[in-house]
Amino acid sequence: MRNLLLLSALWLPADALACGQSTHIWIGLHAIEHLPPGELKDLLSDPAMQTLEINGSMFPDGGYSPLTQDAYGEDAHWEPFQTAWMNWVMDTYPQPYSDEALADIAFILGAAAHGMADQAYDGVFLTRSLIYDGPEPWANYNSDHTTDVVFVSQVGPQPQVDDETVPYDKLAHVYDLYGNPTEVRTMKLGQTSLQAAVQFVAAEAADPAVLADYLAQFPWSTEHLNDKDMPGSPACMGAVVAAYWQTLWDRLHHDFDKDKSAVIWSWPPDGSFQHERSAASIESQISFVFARAVDQDTLTPDAITVTDEDGVEHPQEHGLYYGNRSNVVNLSPVGDWAEDTTYTVTVQPGVTSFDGVQIEAPTSFTFSTGEPPKVCGCASDGRGGAGFLVALVATASLRRRRFTSRAPLA
Ligand SMILES: [Zn+2]
Repeated sequence: MRNLLLLSALWLPADALACGQSTHIWIGLHAIEHLPPGELKDLLSDPAMQTLEINGSMFPDGGYSPLTQDAYGEDAHWEPFQTAWMNWVMDTYPQPYSDEALADIAFILGAAAHGMADQAYDGVFLTRSLIYDGPEPWANYNSDHTTDVVFVSQVGPQPQVDDETVPYDKLAHVYDLYGNPTEVRTMKLGQTSLQAAVQFVAAEAADPAVLADYLAQFPWSTEHLNDKDMPGSPACMGAVVAAYWQTLWDRLHHDFDKDKSAVIWSWPPDGSFQHERSAASIESQISFVFARAVDQDTLTPDAITVTDEDGVEHPQEHGLYYGNRSNVVNLSPVGDWAEDTTYTVTVQPGVTSFDGVQIEAPTSFTFSTGEPPKVCGCASDGRGGAGFLVALVATASLRRRRFTSRAPLA
């Protein structure tokens, strides 16, 4: 244990941005609950496959360990490497997939959950923390560790899993194909470091004095980690990951609809009301997630439009939070959003993934700065009671989801 704590202490300063390991494990397990019934949910509910998913959900940060300091970890965060792995799976195994192929899929789904969670947490939640917690704690403390410990104090310690199931030899082979060779022993050392971090975080989360310190360091972040209504929080990330996983599963089965599933998630959710109007507030921002990592050059100023009910464009600025080959877009209004207005955000055809898959049909979602329609259940209001309710339901259904958000909110 002493060696373990020493190892963990060595580990701590290396990865100061993004979710901690225990948070990643929790998000991956939570995402399984968000999957609709079916093959994918069955796969990841199998305990052996779940072990692989958990290992995969930790794996990318192993490269940041002071004991490794190897680029394999950074690569594993991002869709180009994950795509190389998926392409290798599709080239190697016939369909229907064998248990061995499914195990290799479960592992990469874990890594993909990690990468997606980091992107959305950093781009959507931590951008708020920088404002609401302020720059001072960011300059002095380690946000990813602090929030990891506080989150574990709220959701409980995360499982330790057997890292012997990690497909190290296959990973080394795909890193070779990818053009960034790495050694099995380096990856093993990385995974061991991560397991130590999970144990260390669980120990700290059980210490009230440490916890009190951490709560004081990042008061806003620590209060909202487990708030599923806060954009980009770990608590809401399972739903995003589940939506993403379904597109990866479709890709692995040559069944991905690049237009229908182009955008998998948005903050605020499609059809929402009471959106912040003031351009000076970060809450006026719109964030959304592409299913495929985007070639930044194709996300031109005209690639996304925001129009009011009359089709008049509202000026805005947008960009990929992590730049080229990433998935999360932040969009800010230039000038306040108008009062009581429903806006339509549209991704125009032409946006293209890093590997050349081009969106060919527009994809839209809406948000409103107005109030939600009032639901009236009484029959004596002169509007015909039940008839009015039917009309409201009909209106609501017009606000159809125009992108496929397939993960139910829990
Ligand atoms: Zn990470």
